[in-house]
Amino acid sequence: MERHLTKIVATVGPACQSEKTIGELIQAGVNIFRFNFKHNTLDWHDRMIQKVNRVAMHLGARVGTLIDLQGPEIRIKLPKEKILVKKGQIIPFFTITHPQLIPLLKTGQKIIVDDGKFKFVFNKKSRNNFLISESDGFVLNKKTLNIPGLNFPLPVLIDRDFQGLHLAARNQVDYVALSFVRSADDISILRREIKKFKLDTSVIAKIETNMALKNLDKILTVSDGIMVARGDLGVEIPLEEVPYQQKIIIKKCILKGIPVITATQMLESMITAPIPTRAEISDIANATYDLTDAVMLSGETATGKYPVQAVEIMRKTLIFNEKKNLVDSRLRFNFNVEEEYEFLAEAAYGLYRSISQKKRTFAGFIVFTTNGQAIRALARYRPLFPIFAFMSDSRIADQLAASFGVNAIILQEQNLEKAFAFLKKANYLKKGGDIFIILYPTSQKGTRVLGISHIN
Ligand code: PEP
Repeated sequence: MERHLTKIVATVGPACQSEKTIGELIQAGVNIFRFNFKHNTLDWHDRMIQKVNRVAMHLGARVGTLIDLQGPEIRIKLPKEKILVKKGQIIPFFTITHPQLIPLLKTGQKIIVDDGKFKFVFNKKSRNNFLISESDGFVLNKKTLNIPGLNFPLPVLIDRDFQGLHLAARNQVDYVALSFVRSADDISILRREIKKFKLDTSVIAKIETNMALKNLDKILTVSDGIMVARGDLGVEIPLEEVPYQQKIIIKKCILKGIPVITATQMLESMITAPIPTRAEISDIANATYDLTDAVMLSGETATGKYPVQAVEIMRKTLIFNEKKNLVDSRLRFNFNVEEEYEFLAEAAYGLYRSISQKKRTFAGFIVFTTNGQAIRALARYRPLFPIFAFMSDSRIADQLAASFGVNAIILQEQNLEKAFAFLKKANYLKKGGDIFIILYPTSQKGTRVLGISHIN
């Protein structure tokens, strides 16, 4: 199977909860499984995280796990699964996850439900709160509710998030994402809580509010990764601005050397149809031209009818389009190269460009790493060949699952022969000889080494 360099994140839900489907998703190309804590019970997530880890171990595959915390996100709580609303109809205000906000709302405030599918206008009459519907259709329970332009001091984490962190610590989850981040402080507060749970995890800030866009530079300095959460972002800012913000966020993450996940509605029509729209394929392809580290599926794999097909189509689209990014990244980005491992990564990329331009049979990078720093520094150049990252620490290996082109492998020693033996066994070598660029960012002798190895 041809391997993709742009990583695939798939959201776990009832549509893929069997061991068989999880196995098929891994074989189709999923690199990270996302557990969205806004849906399903904590027990269900607990069992699913363990199931995913079990299936991955059985298949000998390395997959990352990501929990997505609700954070200061508002959701509706209906007494039943759905209610029908009609344009012009006046309904009582929904029960919501943050009822303390309701007294702060003023008549005329716009209220958006389910990522923009429903629009309402808030109305207050004496002590009663109403909504005037501007849309028709069934509003489903637990959908998001946005109050555009409003900036209330909501707590960063809700009770369920604390339970989620407890569960994440028990299962040693690799990534924790926080919804509705507003500032760098939100991430720092989450980090403090994570520390209390003695959880070794990467922290992902979901960018989906206007405030987060304003505070993006500071958020980047305290986060291990970013998610462009286009669903809610498209409610909080005008829809037409979302693609532009996507490009800005991805570029900033590349310069910073932290992974960025482009999320939401990438194959939305595949929730019900076996074939996606041309526009959806274009969206995935365009994310590769933006040079995102990863792309994400939500409802497509969680509740859709065609979860495995969606991943297969995504993988094919990635493989074809990511190969077309032939521009030298050093011309496209003004990388800051200050640390020794960054010099080494830039030199390795330069060497790769020279070798591949001579049409030699280049196969990839072999990097012996202890902390993953040099790997991320190399991945930000987006070379079109895999970065085989050998390390002894499986936590570091799993936290590289979101990084472009990185294939993390556990090896106790920095031993090139053993690394080659692994690559041969795993069928990564082609016949006729392959050239590898080898990096020892901190070799066992304490020096930083860059070299070329030709294997037959
Ligand atoms: C989004 O809004 O795009 C997103 C990824 O968040 P969620 O799926 O939790 O609404």
